[in-house]
Amino acid sequence: MAYDFDLYVIGAGSGGVRAARFAAGFGAKVAVAESRYLGGTCVNVGCVPKKLLVYGAHFAEDFEQASGFGWTLDEAQFDWPTLIANKDREINRLNGIYRNLLVNSGVTLHEGHAKIVDPHTVEINGERFTAKNILIATGGWPQIPEIPGHEHAISSNQAFFLKELPKRVLVVGGGYIAVEFAGIFHGLGAQTTLLYRGELFLRGFDGAVRKHLQEELTKRGMDLQFNADIERIDKQADGSLKVTLKDGRQLEADCVFYATGRRPMLDNLGLENTGVKLDKKGFVEVDELYQTAEPSILALGDVIGRVQLTPVALAEGMAVARRLFKPEQYRPVDYKMIPTAVFSLPNIGTVGLTEEEAREAGHEVQVYESRFRPMKLTLTECQERTLMKLVVDAKTDKVVGCHMVGPDAGEIVQGLAIALKAGATKRHFDETIGVHPTAAEEFVTMRTPVAG
Ligand code: FAD
Ligand code: NDP
Repeated sequence: MAYDFDLYVIGAGSGGVRAARFAAGFGAKVAVAESRYLGGTCVNVGCVPKKLLVYGAHFAEDFEQASGFGWTLDEAQFDWPTLIANKDREINRLNGIYRNLLVNSGVTLHEGHAKIVDPHTVEINGERFTAKNILIATGGWPQIPEIPGHEHAISSNQAFFLKELPKRVLVVGGGYIAVEFAGIFHGLGAQTTLLYRGELFLRGFDGAVRKHLQEELTKRGMDLQFNADIERIDKQADGSLKVTLKDGRQLEADCVFYATGRRPMLDNLGLENTGVKLDKKGFVEVDELYQTAEPSILALGDVIGRVQLTPVALAEGMAVARRLFKPEQYRPVDYKMIPTAVFSLPNIGTVGLTEEEAREAGHEVQVYESRFRPMKLTLTECQERTLMKLVVDAKTDKVVGCHMVGPDAGEIVQGLAIALKAGATKRHFDETIGVHPTAAEEFVTMRTPVAG
């Protein structure tokens, strides 16, 4: 049977665009549908605008520290609407770039909500198109628990478009988004409280990293409240929010921001017209080739709920395009040693196993740790400290994990990730000459393992 397209991609986000462009480049006839914004979450309400706001927040400490280097500044003023307008302009520019990327690579772009009507047919804007394969790349959506008054809370989707910077913000959650946005609001001058339901935020990260960030954020004056969970939110006559915690305490805020995870975006997608199955958490179930239970339908990115990061969605998009249209170049995505950063202030950068994971996996572990005051701060009052940590398998000498909390941690760990992926040993680290004076050189000068 002749189909309208070889591949119909639903969702022009990180993974969908990558798959569509490369498939078209390999000679396939490809369409992509997008209902909201070209570039998806990352470009519009994720990585990119978030990083711009983090840069904005960072200026607060730059101004504070400048006097140590002889600079005198009048009192710094911050204007939220200017930052948001400039961010919006940049995002518009990127939307245009994504449009050009798709069109120039020969992909047909359909703007509207796509619904699957049968395993080979998609309906969009009242028209139907057939395809040999359909790729679900519809991403995720913020998930706010349905406590009484949850309608008064916002998620990251709204945070990027607030008309003004709230004076008092309560951030709920202890994952990437909560920690990053708490840093943004705090840095920009809002009185910020981070509420997390567990003992210590950033579950899954190395214990030393979590503790170090807790100490650094506390030093900066952020109010961290752990073992705390909200029971209800009530709007008061003056527009402010009264928040009642499960332990009975009450807090007041102008904005309650929930960052409690993301669900797969499957709204009105028509999966009931297919044999696609969902996993226990509701994400689309796929095999190692991103194949769903319906033979003609594939899925990738946040909607499959494996690793919710843009570079992972990109790698999966590439793998799908190659597998379908350039099988001789197909290489499976390697999910080991995925480096990642939390753009908190200070940043976290991490790759490989945490000390806890390494021990649990049965490694005989040697740990190297260094804590120091960054050189840039020596002329300032700032008491911030950097943490660097290597987790080494004592038997093979392989460095199995590398963790950092400090300025540019993400930038530094990206390079180290290549070394770890290549199987670098501690001896390789020791024999590598440092770049002096940098913070990063500390990673090649740690000689004595910590006891334990
Ligand atoms: P998405 O990028 O979400 O794209 C899905 C697209 O599908 C969307 O554009 C959506 O509108 C469209 N769509 C959905 N349903 C339909 C339909 N029925 N018809 C047509 N179109 C549809 N990752 C990092 O690596 N680094 C970061 O710093 C980072 N920061 C983040 C910050 C925030 C606040 C958030 C929310 C996420 C962040 N992420 C970050 C995660 C990253 O954004 C995602 O992992 C990535 O965007 C996933 O790509 P995707 O292609 O799976 O989905
Ligand atoms: P995460 O899954 O990272 O964190 C969710 C947090 O919310 C956890 O601390 C979790 O607690 C808590 N939580 C979950 N449900 C509830 C609830 N009902 N009540 C109270 N707390 C709850 O999700 P995020 O929303 O922060 O981010 C989604 C994903 O997006 C990330 O996992 C990441 O993959 C990606 N991302 C990546 C970024 C980066 O690369 N820098 C930045 C931002 C997002 P508990 O730990 O106890 O389960």
